[in-house]
Amino acid sequence: MSRASGADLDAGLKRLHLPTIRRTYTAVFAEAEKESWTHREVLEQLIAEEIANRAETRIQRSTRKAKFPFLKTIEEFDFEFQGSIKRQMLGRFLGPELVSDGRSLILLGRPGRGKTHLAVAIAYKAIQNGFDARFTTAAKLLADLNSASRDGAFEQRVEPYTAPHVLVIDELGYLAYAQDAANSLFQVIDRRYLARKPVLITSNKEPGSWGEVLHDTDLAEAIVDRLLEHGEVLALKGKSYRARAGSLVDQA
Ligand code: ADP
Ligand code: MG
Repeated sequence: MSRASGADLDAGLKRLHLPTIRRTYTAVFAEAEKESWTHREVLEQLIAEEIANRAETRIQRSTRKAKFPFLKTIEEFDFEFQGSIKRQMLGRFLGPELVSDGRSLILLGRPGRGKTHLAVAIAYKAIQNGFDARFTTAAKLLADLNSASRDGAFEQRVEPYTAPHVLVIDELGYLAYAQDAANSLFQVIDRRYLARKPVLITSNKEPGSWGEVLHDTDLAEAIVDRLLEHGEVLALKGKSYRARAGSLVDQA
């Protein structure tokens, strides 16, 4: 095989969409020379850098699209402070089975117990595992879908809630929703249930009383049934983490 002559390396890498190799090859060649790498090792190194960079870019893009209110990881969660749950209990929500088995999770507890932190952390792990996620609050989702119904645009506007592999619905039950709330929420939960896609819901109210919040006991029951067919309820007890931080400041 004769060597291709006159080929412009930069132009070729650009055309093949290999920006990381294009950016790093000069440094990699210098390192290879110094360390006497084989041709194979040089190629492996360049490809490994391109792959690592693409994975990182995807995670960043997907995290931005998820619209988390804050980014907190499972590693940042203090399981000693929140003694009512163990790290192992969350194991089955932190791996790819979350999505492949459609494992929904209802996180219950009073304010400051870490419900939103855990929901974000689980969704972020899913992103790291190659999936995509979307965060919303119950109030936003219901307001959005109710206005979509009025505009006759429900089908288009429900899509952002049904398409992602993982959907977080934060703060269900904090306020009185509109009369047709149950139906909009049921549409989202049922469509995701049929596609076996997980939903992570945080709430300060037991699922048994969601009927009052949503003004429809039967639909609320249908929602909870679907969530729990492959899912679980986790109750976070103990003191508020926010109050703890406050009390430390007070003591200082
Ligand atoms: P909730 O949604 O239950 O009201 P959050 O998840 O918003 O509570 O938690 C309030 C704040 O306290 C957040 O900044 C969160 O990161 C932090 N927090 C709560 N519980 C813990 C915990 N066990 N370990 C570390 N940080 C925590
Ligand atoms: Mg919260």
